[in-house]
Order: sequence, then structure tokens, then C-alpha cells
Amino acid sequence: MTRLALHWQILIGMVLGIAFGLFASFAGWDQFVGDWVSPFGKIFVNALKLIAVPLIITSLIKGVADLKDITKFSQMGGRTVVLYLLTTVVAITIGLLIVNIVQPGAGFSEESRKQLLADAQTQERATAAQEGAAQQKEKGPLQPLIDLVPSNIFYAATDNSNMLQVIFFTIFFGIGLLLVDPKLAQPVKDFFYGLNEVIMKMIDLIMLVAPIGVFALLAAQVVLTPSWDVLLALVKYSLCVLGGLAIMVFIFYPMLVRVFTGRSYPFFFRGIAPAQLLAFSTSSSAATLPVTMERVEEHLGVEREVSSFVLPVGATVNMDGTSLYQAVAAVFIAQAYGMGLDLVGQLNIVLTATLASIGSAAVPGAGMVMLVIVLGAIGVPVEGLALIVAMDRILDMCRTTVNVTGDASVAMLVARSVGRLGDPHVKEWDDNYPPDDIEAAVEPELATSDTE
Ligand code: ASP
Repeated sequence: MTRLALHWQILIGMVLGIAFGLFASFAGWDQFVGDWVSPFGKIFVNALKLIAVPLIITSLIKGVADLKDITKFSQMGGRTVVLYLLTTVVAITIGLLIVNIVQPGAGFSEESRKQLLADAQTQERATAAQEGAAQQKEKGPLQPLIDLVPSNIFYAATDNSNMLQVIFFTIFFGIGLLLVDPKLAQPVKDFFYGLNEVIMKMIDLIMLVAPIGVFALLAAQVVLTPSWDVLLALVKYSLCVLGGLAIMVFIFYPMLVRVFTGRSYPFFFRGIAPAQLLAFSTSSSAATLPVTMERVEEHLGVEREVSSFVLPVGATVNMDGTSLYQAVAAVFIAQAYGMGLDLVGQLNIVLTATLASIGSAAVPGAGMVMLVIVLGAIGVPVEGLALIVAMDRILDMCRTTVNVTGDASVAMLVARSVGRLGDPHVKEWDDNYPPDDIEAAVEPELATSDTE
């Protein structure tokens, strides 16, 4: 018997979660959802985050240790950085074009503005974001570089927000491993290779309960959604962000993949869909990372030595969706305040939104906190943040989906450019992929033994 493909299972969980959340809101079951449904979503996200650090360590060590020579690594690193920057600038440009053409803030009524600015809850969140951004700003210009090098790896590994530090240590360790006597290095490699397989298997196991996890996450989210009146005032702005994000996901990335790797649209989407759906449900690239890695390696054919470097770095620094959102939001707020932005202002947005998206943590809501920096750079009142707070979560879900898709696309491009893009090699037994093989498929149990 074949199971329903994973992305369908997740999609069904999402739809049922939204439906149940709506029903619960109308029935006044908010408390019930908070007490008895939401915890399952949190447990699911925790389980994913639990895997992130060990996964990065083991797969990156394997990735670096598999390299035949170090020049390949620097080649890959250079291309990754260039592609990440390019896609981010494209995203911001798309956002700016849309928001300048549609002008969602120009017709924003005085009444809606006052209503939004007066809302106490909104104010509270806007102030929290400003405080978060202020802390960021206090740091010196080279602080990100200092932050890259941990003074204690065990300390760094205990905090998921220190992902870049863990990556730094691991690459360093991997290089050391490449340089020692192969006889001594072999047992260490074998240990990490085995550990990596175990962790990939744990991800498969976690994904078995993904439909339940996303059900709980979305039901809880729907119950928390602010009033519809407030949301309606922001429809035009939201549509600008969503339109831009849709262009990225449905046109830009698949086209990039098609042109540079020759892989088809259905192949790309079938491969990455579960990670996209999970990014949407969790609003966190970091929590989605284990699944992104698994999908990109096993379903999109990117070899581990590429994915293990490109994806963890991308989860933290490459946020195309976030940068697009920041560009649209900044111009929208300026428009709502009746401030025009000239070309210099717009270019300033390209620069600051690129930096702000790189600096945003891969967790829910981080993009809005960093938006404060973009607003500050172009001289728009930071209080204006309160205008868009109500829409933040739903836009966060969508921009995170774009962030993850961008990482996966760049991973495919980099892999192709260094000759490391092969055929998918699915090792899990919970997903019937690739579909053509289903007819001839052996029993799923037998397929389990089909490891490399
Ligand atoms: N939630 C986003 C992510 O994790 C970041 C953001 O835009 O808030 O990718």
C-alpha cells in the first residue's frame, strides 16, 4: 500500500488546522485551543529545532571531509555568497517596483491610520520591535565578524541563534580533519558519517507527525489573528507583499533552476514542497532547516558537501522574502505618512534591506524587528511600524516560505556549478517518490534497505 505523498499530508493538516481554528474562534474555544491544541505545534517545532545543531555539525563535517581539495570549498563559498546577494537584490527590486506602482499607502485613510496607531496591543509589539532593533544598532560595524567566532563551542552549540558560530567551528574542524593523517582521520569521519545517517533518520521520523504538527500550529495561529476590520485596511499593502513573494516562488526561482540546472518545475516543487509548507506553518527558516536539507539532498539531488554548507548559511543570511517584505513595508509606511521617496531613498532601501535581511534571525517576526533599521535609514517615523504589525504573522509565514525556497534554489545552482548535482536518491520510506517508480515499487518495507 502506498502512502499519500508527504506534501499532501501536510497540506491536509494545514487546511484542517485553519478550518478548526476558524470554527474554534467562532465557538469561543480560544482557551481550549491554547491549552490542548497549540502545545502539539510547539512540541513539533521544538523537535525540529532539536535536530538543527547536531544536523549542521554532522553533515557539514561530512561535507567538508568529503572534499578532495580545499580550493573547491572556496569556489563554492564564493558562488554561494554572490548568488545569495543577487537573489536578495532581485527580491528587493521586485518589491520596490510593485509598491511604487500600486502605491498602497497613498490612499490609506487617516481613520485607519489613527485606528492602527491607537491600538494598545499593536503599540506594544511595535515598541518591542524597536527595542530589539535598538540593541542591534548599538553594536559596532565589525560586530557581525566578531560574532562569527565563538569563544566556546559548547556554549555556542547550546543556542540555536548561534548557528553561524557553529558553522564556523564545524568548517574549521572539517578542514583540520582533511589535513591530518588519513589513517587517523578515518575513524573520526566514520563516526560522523554514521551519526549523520541517524540524524537524517530522526528527521524522517519527526516528519511522520508533521501533518499533526502543522494542524496544531495553524489552528493556534488562526485563533490569535487580530480583528478582520483592522486586517481589511491593510489588504492592498498585504497584496503587494504577497504578489512580490508569489513572483519569487512561482516565477523567479523555478525559472532560475530551470535555466541553470535544467530541472523542471514539477520536479522542483515536488521536491521542495514539504519544506515550503513547513516554513509556512512554522514561520522559521531555522526550524525548517532539517527538512530543507533532507529534501534538497534526497529529492533535488544536491550532494551533501554542497547542501551542508549552502543551506545552513542560507537559513541565517539569505532571506529574500524578508528583504522584499522590508522594502514594501518601508515604502508603504512612508506613503501612509505622505512622505515621498526619491531615487536615493529607494537605493538606500536596497542597501539597508539587504543588510537587514542578512541580520534577521531565522525565527518568527525577526524581519519586522530589523525593519526598524530600514525605516531609520530612510528617515521614516519608526512608530509607523504599528501600521503593519497586524499583518505581520501571515506575511511572515509567506516570506519564510520564500526564504527557504531561495536557499534551496541557490543550493541547486551552486551544486550544478561545481558538478555536484545528481539524481534524487530517496532513502525514506514514508514518501512515495519519485512517482514513476510507484508502479514498480517494491513493498515500502523492502525499500528501507535500499540505502546507498
Ligand atoms: N521568519 C523569517 C524566517 O525565519 C524571518 C522573518 O522575516 O521574520 O525566515
